Amino acid sequence: MDPTVQRRLIEEVANVVIDHADELTTLDQAIGDGDHGLNMKRGATAILERLDDVAAKPLPDALKMAGQTLVMKVGGASGPLYGTLLMTLGKELPNGPNQDDLVRAMGAAIEAVKKIGRSDVGQKTMLDVLGPVHEELALRGPELLDRVRKRGAQAADATVPMKAIKGRASFLGERSIGHMDPGARSASLMIAAICGVMEE
Ligand code: ADP
Ligand code: MG
Repeated sequence: MDPTVQRRLIEEVANVVIDHADELTTLDQAIGDGDHGLNMKRGATAILERLDDVAAKPLPDALKMAGQTLVMKVGGASGPLYGTLLMTLGKELPNGPNQDDLVRAMGAAIEAVKKIGRSDVGQKTMLDVLGPVHEELALRGPELLDRVRKRGAQAADATVPMKAIKGRASFLGERSIGHMDPGARSASLMIAAICGVMEE
């Protein structure tokens, strides 16, 4: 992968998280413990602090390093979960991935998240964005990036009427209904940022 593009990807994903930290915190205040914005911001900042290092590595190593940083630096469920997602992508992707590579690697990364989260799609978590986005990515055809971004945003919206079955929000039972899942929102934001860079 072109090192300049890789650097832009890291920067844009980290910055969108940092820019939306307050929104993510507000969402987590409604159905969790109000730290999702802070957790994500801490992880993004830690990755930006190592930007020169991470950007210079081949894509698989860069993803592994970013994932390890999240696992080490982020408390809360989201650190190990997003960390596992990135580390698995790093393990599965070749340096210059094509669409098939991406679909396969993302499938493996989602499976890894499900395994450590003991969770699945349909439980009002980040998986309810990652799963549909993976599905959309696997479809061929024109305007793929636009469709992936829209699917991510719609999938995050679709967590509003869901009842949480995993994570802290599940402690609220029925009262988790009517709020967007914070992790679903952060996933959709990061996916939109990736699509934006790839479109350029
Ligand atoms: P914590 O829940 O420990 O406070 P965060 O607030 O940073 O951690 O992250 C919460 C988000 O993590 C949730 O909105 C949800 O999307 C995701 N999440 C929590 N538990 C799981 C799980 N077991 N599987 C998948 N995603 C989960
Ligand atoms: Mg939280």
